[in-house]
Amino acid sequence: MSLSQTQLADLVRQLEERHTALLEEVRAALESSENLQYIELLDRAPADVGDESVADALADLNLAIVDRHVRELRDIEAARARVADRTYGVCVDCGDDIMPERLHAWPTAKRCHACQQQRERTFSHEGTPRL
Ligand SMILES: [Zn+2]
Repeated sequence: MSLSQTQLADLVRQLEERHTALLEEVRAALESSENLQYIELLDRAPADVGDESVADALADLNLAIVDRHVRELRDIEAARARVADRTYGVCVDCGDDIMPERLHAWPTAKRCHACQQQRERTFSHEGTPRL
């Protein structure tokens, strides 16, 4: 892996901050909707080990208002899992190191730039909707 310990720690911090911010957005979305009972689910979730199940539990609710958040939470949780098993920063397709600049811009990236472009050409319907 081409990342230094400092870079990795910085990226992990970015992931944690985004995760926390997302959960706050989910909470706000639930509070402003008819789904107050689900806020309890967020309060019950343990801060460290149980995070994995937060996205799953939210996904089970199948609420359109938190759908986008759930997808991003899953991306972050997947990135944290890669940090834990030391595959973070390594492209899942070709096994090359992902450029640190790319990870800083997009901490949940799991592919190098070349593989991502290849994938977008192959699955052009995926990714951001084109209006
Ligand atoms: Zn690659």
